[in-house]
Amino acid sequence: MIENIPLPATDDPVDATFWAGTRCGELRIQTCQQCDQMRFPPRPMCPSCQSQESYWQPVSGRGRVWSFAVPSSPLLPAFEKLTPYVVALVELEESPTLRLIGPVLHSVGGEVSGVEAKDVRIGAEVTVDFKRYSDDVAMPCWVLGK
Ligand SMILES: [Zn+2]
Repeated sequence: MIENIPLPATDDPVDATFWAGTRCGELRIQTCQQCDQMRFPPRPMCPSCQSQESYWQPVSGRGRVWSFAVPSSPLLPAFEKLTPYVVALVELEESPTLRLIGPVLHSVGGEVSGVEAKDVRIGAEVTVDFKRYSDDVAMPCWVLGK
């Protein structure tokens, strides 16, 4: 675990199911009950048909790097300790409209620290992994390669 990292609330009814999924190693995406469009981030209303009815479905966890950044100083102390690291915006294979942000790892269960820009390219295939930061929070991370 990383100390003092700012963590999201996981008990908001809008996205509690997403966080329950990450805690058990499953990437769940909110889907409109009316038009079946998946959406991320979770929100109460479908941006396509305005329905407020939705359900959650697990997705493959496979995607491609759509963009990435290498955070540099000034950073919060908890993140400063991790440099160098890469944060990617990943497009899920289920839909190009589903993009999630997370740190890039070299391997499943690998460290956030030590990944450099030269290790990542736009379009690189990635697979989700989950890094536990507290009892309630497991964050999606992205593992390079298949
Ligand atoms: Zn809809």
